[in-house]
Amino acid sequence: MQLIDGKKTSTDIKQEIAAEVAEMTAKGIRRPHLAAILVGHDGGSETYVANKVKSCAECGFESTLLRFEDDITEEQLLAEVRKLNENPEIDGFIVQLPLPKHIDEQRVIETVDPDKDVDGFHPVNVGRLSIGLPGFKSATPAGIIELLRRYNIDTRGKHVVVIGRSNIVGKPVASLLMQKGNPGDATVTVCHSRTTNLPEITRQADIIIAALGKPGFVTADMVKDGATVIDVGTTRVPDATRKSGFRLCGDVDFENVAPKCEFITPVPGGVGPMTICSLMLNTLQAAKQRRGC
Ligand code: NAP
Repeated sequence: MQLIDGKKTSTDIKQEIAAEVAEMTAKGIRRPHLAAILVGHDGGSETYVANKVKSCAECGFESTLLRFEDDITEEQLLAEVRKLNENPEIDGFIVQLPLPKHIDEQRVIETVDPDKDVDGFHPVNVGRLSIGLPGFKSATPAGIIELLRRYNIDTRGKHVVVIGRSNIVGKPVASLLMQKGNPGDATVTVCHSRTTNLPEITRQADIIIAALGKPGFVTADMVKDGATVIDVGTTRVPDATRKSGFRLCGDVDFENVAPKCEFITPVPGGVGPMTICSLMLNTLQAAKQRRGC
């Protein structure tokens, strides 16, 4: 069994990005600039945004954090999004989800200029991804693809079973893996809460991608010997022994599944760090496009 080290891979990628940014600035080209909108004080969102800002510094990017209270109206938030769309200093930006209930997330997503949509959530970018055109790829699926690439995990002709059909993970990762190429060229089955005989399907998988948000859901009896298992799940489970009061749990019963696997990602330290890396790569791409380099 080989552990897929997302933390190390993400550190390597951030160093590669920082080297590219150093080359850009040495030539007098302005460094990439990412902005993030954070609404309210959700603990998870605060952590994610803080990590994104920290990663910007590691990559040599400029970053701007715009904070709003959770009583901001939808119209006010949309106006802030439009300001960022028009701001020539900003190469790309994200609106940290989830948003308060009174705000229509889809409307916010569709207001972001697709050319600055470094989260890859705008329907234009989702559409481009699904037909194999260049564009900003949703960060978590792009991170998974990068891990497969860097660990030389051949997906061609393999049966990939994705558990979960969300717009941000399940659907786009399935789409990427069925594109021509490697990673890609896979036969993909997408399972969800209405799937019957799920263990029967996962047992046929050469590669399982678990993205459902149910801790320990994938058990050893659901995995064939020699499979590769990518665990996307990150559920906060209360844990009084931790300073934070919780620990992150994946969707895979790691202890019992790992011995059967050829490759497996841990939680934490697997897919999670790669998600931020993809955001940094998308921001670099946005900056290069805007500067014509
Ligand atoms: P989501 O929007 O809640 O979607 C969950 C999916 O799992 C749905 O398609 C659902 O089916 C399916 N599902 C739920 N219970 C199931 C069951 N018993 N059997 C089969 N399928 C089931 O979740 P998400 O946003 O994709 O996130 C999934 C997990 O990944 C969460 O733990 C999240 O925190 C984590 N995540 C991690 C990262 C990262 O950077 N590491 C990024 C994003 C998400 P239906 O469609 O039928 O309801």
